[in-house]
Amino acid sequence: DQLEKYCQGCGVSIQTADASQPGYVPESAIKNDTVVCRRCFRLKHYNEVQDVPYTDQDFVDMISQISRTNGLIVKLVDIFDFNGSFIKSLHRLTGNNPIILVGNKVDLLPKSTNRNKLKQWMKKSAADLGLVVQEVYLISATKGLGMEQVKEGMEKYRKNQDVYVVGSTNVGKSSFINRLIGESTGTKDAITTSYFPGTTLGFIEIPLNEHSVLYDTPGVINRGQIAHYMSEKDLKVITPTKEIKPRVYQLQEKQTLYIGGLARFDFIKGEKQSFVCYFANELAIHRTKLENADDLYAKHLGDMLAPPSKESVEGFPELKEQSFKIDGQKTDIVFPGLGWITVTGGAATVKAHCPATVSASWRDALI
Ligand code: GDP
Repeated sequence: DQLEKYCQGCGVSIQTADASQPGYVPESAIKNDTVVCRRCFRLKHYNEVQDVPYTDQDFVDMISQISRTNGLIVKLVDIFDFNGSFIKSLHRLTGNNPIILVGNKVDLLPKSTNRNKLKQWMKKSAADLGLVVQEVYLISATKGLGMEQVKEGMEKYRKNQDVYVVGSTNVGKSSFINRLIGESTGTKDAITTSYFPGTTLGFIEIPLNEHSVLYDTPGVINRGQIAHYMSEKDLKVITPTKEIKPRVYQLQEKQTLYIGGLARFDFIKGEKQSFVCYFANELAIHRTKLENADDLYAKHLGDMLAPPSKESVEGFPELKEQSFKIDGQKTDIVFPGLGWITVTGGAATVKAHCPATVSASWRDALI
């Protein structure tokens, strides 16, 4: 029994200890002659991929294979967590292969969102992080929006080569792949899993035609994502499930908004004006005076200012402040993983406080 076993589907080393980790097989199934890991099992029997998280280093080792092959990289990001869900090592690993960027969860945006502006912002943000992309697409993997355009884009840019789908955990990669599987041939037999040559772990392989395949690579854990510092229950509160309803606040200078206890926005200087908040509808926003804001946080983090709830306060990163000077253009202050606040007019100095693992940023207003 000391003999190490490998998944017949993807080649990952089999283990029975941790269901959330790669290569998991329940104890009862390990006696079978041919063992497949749970991820491959689900794909084979339910036509469904499941996300298995890998650390950044595992991913680097694995995906550097791609730079030695030819193919199109499809990078999936969460439009509410662009920076948090970005894989920083990606540009070093993909060689000269073309990349298209797919922004998921577009169903959550208010209807009035300017999608072209959003795409431009994504393209520029990617470039700022060192990644030049051919094209940006917006989709909803769960609602099936924008899928045709992405599929056309894949055909256009892959030039008959293979496709590699990459993304960090929680961006909706499984949902995206499952939808592609569902919309492809529709026959279960068309889906195979495969050991990717030269690695200890396979990518899941979905045939595109007789000559090329689409590889689903494992999701990367991105430590910056604030999702990693929250309980399941808290995560439900901050993750929007329905179209976001803007909430408008008229603020005087020296007033503060708390976004739950997860982030804080200070209006430091400027004429009285309105600020529009775009966060999950369930996430409570509290207004207070700037001079009372620190005290309020010290006293009420975890109850009035929640999430994080009492149980997850301890492990939650400290808030770190950044200053923004706005010269009168409509501007969004973006809180990664949460949403954004639009400064609607007039010159203003504001401060954004975010968990120290992520950084706030600004962009021209989308709405
Ligand atoms: P993965 O970890 O990248 O494989 O992500 P999943 O496919 O498991 O999705 C992560 C979470 O995001 C789940 O709660 C999904 O329901 C949700 N999700 C995925 N795609 C969408 C989408 O297009 N819209 C919305 N609103 N939620 C989505």
